[in-house]
Amino acid sequence: MGNTYVIVAETRGGRLRQVSLEAVQAAVLASRDEDKLIALLLGHQLQEAATELARYVKDQVMVIDHPDLAMYQAEAYLAALAPALDQLQPHTVFFGHTAIGRDLAPQAAAHLNAGQISDVIAIAQTDDTVSYTRPLFAGKAFENRKFTASPQIITIRPNNITPAQPTPAPAEISELTYSPSPSLRTVIKEVVSKSIGRIDLTEAKVVVSGGRGVKSKAGFQPLEELAELLQGAVGASRGACDAGYCDYSLQIGQTGKVVTPEIYIACGISGAIQHLAGMSQSRIIIAINKDPEAPIFKVADYGIVGDLFEVVPLLTEEFRKV
Ligand code: FAD
Repeated sequence: MGNTYVIVAETRGGRLRQVSLEAVQAAVLASRDEDKLIALLLGHQLQEAATELARYVKDQVMVIDHPDLAMYQAEAYLAALAPALDQLQPHTVFFGHTAIGRDLAPQAAAHLNAGQISDVIAIAQTDDTVSYTRPLFAGKAFENRKFTASPQIITIRPNNITPAQPTPAPAEISELTYSPSPSLRTVIKEVVSKSIGRIDLTEAKVVVSGGRGVKSKAGFQPLEELAELLQGAVGASRGACDAGYCDYSLQIGQTGKVVTPEIYIACGISGAIQHLAGMSQSRIIIAINKDPEAPIFKVADYGIVGDLFEVVPLLTEEFRKV
């Protein structure tokens, strides 16, 4: 008899997040044909997202839909998730390595008395074991880890594992009931910054990032135009955030977000080690900097030595023609 693999899926603005489809694929890679793949979807007004998720999951989508779950709140989400996990007795549970996943996964691990491997970027199955690869020391090294027992908890770094392909037939969708538990906390309102609202920085395929070289808030305008044209997101160095040119929610690096887009365009960023920690795993890195000795050029696949205020509008103009 097979084991049960559970994916805890997430929505954003009512839509299924791409990292959840990557987590489904992670479950596919870690499991065997005889195993069951079940996705759990927590939130409110989830019909559309559940229907979409069902196209990618082999066996079942279980929905826990309640107004209390409309916005993430640790206590409420755990109160909804724990009975479902108790019922399913999973071998492995997969989460996205997102703000929610990073908070909820360790609580699920504590509840199940499970081991956890976080921030996984690759999965390999050999004869009788599955090994999970994760970056260490801000991306300077990688380790392969294996579990020796179950239950197991995994979080998946966005943009590293190819999203799952649709299955031949959609999975069955069922509803689980949620009984709200008394909570000392309540979420009054969620403030979503405009730049984040467009495309999630951690899931964007293209990131156009600005550093102190951007020189002002207004200096980000050409970067925003380029990002919008390429359907990407705007990021920043801590230098730019500290200078007040942009919101800290855009910060990429050791103490900011980790991104792994297909294309990362660093504009006026020197390439400090703490910044590299958040973007060096990007597939193609393009650096624009006035200083030919800037360390960012050491990690860049393509380097443009020049003034970003000349180069970025030229790039935008050229991409517009394509
Ligand atoms: P600078 O180093 O000042 O570089 C600006 C660059 O812009 C220069 O290379 C310059 O040549 C270029 N430039 C100037 N004008 C132009 C122009 N017109 N056109 C083209 N190029 C131009 N940093 C992060 O980014 N993320 C983090 O998460 C982070 N965490 C940190 C944690 C700790 C504990 C510490 C100590 C530091 C951390 N830092 C982090 C800060 C980091 O060390 C650097 O100070 C910061 O990354 C520098 O930002 P910057 O490259 O934008 O600025």
